[in-house]
Amino acid sequence: MTIHKKITVDSNHLYLFPLADFAGGGYLMIDAGPNSDQAFDKLNENLNSTNIKLSSLKKIIITHAHSDHMGLANILSKQDIEFYVGAPDMSAYTSGSQFEAIIIRKTAAVLKKNGMPDSILNQWLENKKSRLPLSAIPWANIKPVVGKHTFPLMNNQMLEIVACPGHTPGSIAAYIPQTQEIFSGDTILNNKIPSTGLHYESISTEKQWPGITHFLNTIKQLKLIDIKKVYPAHGSEIINCQAILDYYLEHFMNFEKKILLLLNNNLTNPFEITKKTYKHFLDFPVNNQVQAMIKIICIIEKLNNAKQKN
Ligand SMILES: [Zn+2]
Repeated sequence: MTIHKKITVDSNHLYLFPLADFAGGGYLMIDAGPNSDQAFDKLNENLNSTNIKLSSLKKIIITHAHSDHMGLANILSKQDIEFYVGAPDMSAYTSGSQFEAIIIRKTAAVLKKNGMPDSILNQWLENKKSRLPLSAIPWANIKPVVGKHTFPLMNNQMLEIVACPGHTPGSIAAYIPQTQEIFSGDTILNNKIPSTGLHYESISTEKQWPGITHFLNTIKQLKLIDIKKVYPAHGSEIINCQAILDYYLEHFMNFEKKILLLLNNNLTNPFEITKKTYKHFLDFPVNNQVQAMIKIICIIEKLNNAKQKN
């Protein structure tokens, strides 16, 4: 039987679990809410209506270092809360806005190098200026995990961390073997392909981190787990998990095939390839144009790496 409670702040679902008494009691929460003006008030209202006191939150697992999942972590760190996060996302958690600024700068350089026109690029950079500052999580409150970490819950249930690199390098999910429920963050979503974005091997290098390759490996690993129900960070719950995972694998395979065909037809400019791949590209909002092009750049990179290996 499921023992979690779900609350929603903006478009983010947060999940609460009663910890076993022998583990100190109190509550564990998955994700730390969005980075919006009213988010903290909304979180408090939601906790009140589920009869959970803010002071009973003892542990928070953050599924990945995006602002809508770690937004309230800094405020919440003023309570006595331990944050469990995927180790590869540590730089993002401990530097907040500064980390975002570095990624934006590197990403703009990659987009420009791949042929994105200044008109789109400048508009994207302009949009980024209006984002709210993102506060870092103090080092003292963070426990980096790599996977397999477990949390004892009430009713003899256990929450296990599952490493899910792909959407970000340090993406994690939480699995309860007793109920076969998985809390997937952004790694499994209903009706949406998770983005794999542009990531780098480390904060101090320009070398790209092969997100799509990692994402596909993650999906293959998840297929080996018995999953009855998926609770994502956004959108509705999923009962046909295997079908969604198969759909993700198929989606990326089809994309690779399409792009390989264009590359073999001597189309080499990634911006031109993006326009050819997405029929309505020119009608997309700027943010989606950038997301689309990032996806194409990453797939071309993956294909080139595969070619070099052969
Ligand atoms: Zn995300």
